[in-house]
Amino acid sequence: MTSKEIRSRFLAFFEERGHQIVPSAPMVIKDDPTLMFTNAGMNQFKEYFLGTGTPAHRRIADAQKCLRVSGKHNDLEEVGRDTYHHTMFEMLGNWSFGDYFKKETISWAWEFLTEVCGIERDRLYVTIFEGSDDADALERDQEAYELWKAIVPEDRILLGSKKDNFWEMGEQGPCGPCSEIHVDIRSASERQQVPGASLVNQDHPQVVEIWNLVFIQYNRKANGALEALPERHVDTGMGFERLCMVLQGVQSNYDTDVFTPLIREIETISGTRYGKGGEPDVAIRVIADHIRAVAFAIADGQLPGNTGAGYVIRRILRRAIRYGFTFLGAGEPMMYRLVRVLVETMGDAYPELGQQQHLIENVVREEEHSFLRTLEQGLSLLDQILRENPGTEVDGAKAFELYDTFGFPIDLTSLILRERGYTLDEAGFEKAMQAQKSRSRAASEVSRADWEVLREGPPTNFLGYDQLRAEVRIRKYRRV
Ligand code: ATP
Ligand code: MG
Ligand code: MG
Ligand code: MG
Repeated sequence: MTSKEIRSRFLAFFEERGHQIVPSAPMVIKDDPTLMFTNAGMNQFKEYFLGTGTPAHRRIADAQKCLRVSGKHNDLEEVGRDTYHHTMFEMLGNWSFGDYFKKETISWAWEFLTEVCGIERDRLYVTIFEGSDDADALERDQEAYELWKAIVPEDRILLGSKKDNFWEMGEQGPCGPCSEIHVDIRSASERQQVPGASLVNQDHPQVVEIWNLVFIQYNRKANGALEALPERHVDTGMGFERLCMVLQGVQSNYDTDVFTPLIREIETISGTRYGKGGEPDVAIRVIADHIRAVAFAIADGQLPGNTGAGYVIRRILRRAIRYGFTFLGAGEPMMYRLVRVLVETMGDAYPELGQQQHLIENVVREEEHSFLRTLEQGLSLLDQILRENPGTEVDGAKAFELYDTFGFPIDLTSLILRERGYTLDEAGFEKAMQAQKSRSRAASEVSRADWEVLREGPPTNFLGYDQLRAEVRIRKYRRV
């Protein structure tokens, strides 16, 4: 089944069961101070759950573009390292606003996966919420347990902790106990040797969570307390790329038709083949993933910038450029060339991509151009620092200067130092960073609310790319 078919079968299944199919909401959120990007299908329906808005339909289904790079749901560091977490991904979902509850949700999810999709029953595991004895003092979800018992053998129903089986959108908002479905895609002999039940929720790349069925009953208030909602609702979310992986019989999301066209193009441009393992594979996955996040963000009107959501997008793009530069030898802009492929594979489902194709290409190319110059410049300065360095530990203040004045990423500095057998004086770096922060108020202008990953903020004293380019020219001239 192609990914296009999978998406439409999901929507058709719920349409047949009385659901209104709605378009994805934007991935970039403009009017909610508690959330910068859509991180789940339910975000756009928040007010229906809270009772502050009324839905036109009590049953809704859709495919929602999501981004998980910030706040409570931040997967950025996983992306590229594993094969099933993305920055941008699609979440398939069905909702009931005060209409059906656990019984229909559970039986439809099971029917969809086993009958429509044909997933073998003995590959599936389900989890239910075990309750919590913390301040929330929540009960075990016995109702879900009984409903599953009527469908699957008891040894396939597992109890899950609050971390895995109590879904919350963020620090505040609608939430509730959930029941999740996991798929074991290992071979028959592997499954016999080690039971899948022991691998559920263990970050195993072949025993993955695919669908979360959330039973929304509470609202988490700003003071942390839970209040019961006036009505009970259903919110489900299934990872589209993971479902494609299972149905296309492959072992990685990146081997599905969602990603292979992008990966083929990266191979062609970089001259590096995917699938040999190691850092080049990670780099190819990072690039294939991040171009989607960046392209969708720009299509939603969010350009890379120096503050807030724009800075998050710039950092995602730079992470990919850095991987390409370091592990694929990509010294020239290349990611912008992937936009055409993305439009070909996803433009039908998300027409905004095609409509904004030229803007996306131009913005990405310009960002790549600027940042690659920064990287080149930083590398030659770093070489100079190392040539003059007396021992194997590199002065933190010097690394800070590279970062602060030239915008050279500190994690790249650390990586290069490690590779060359040096260590970084981290305390010295931190000290210089603190000193700079107290000198400059600029850092505090950056909105930090929703993206801890970017905690170091932008260079506080960054000269700008024009000046940087001028310096590169001067240095070249001097060398001559
Ligand atoms: P995981 O435990 O794998 O990180 P999650 O529990 O954080 O997933 P949920 O918040 O329950 O995920 O989201 C619903 C579904 O969305 C998941 O069951 C999964 O299939 C999918 N999903 C979640 N995060 C990602 C991601 N970063 N990339 C791709 N799919 C994801
Ligand atoms: Mg997660
Ligand atoms: Mg999980
Ligand atoms: Mg989950």
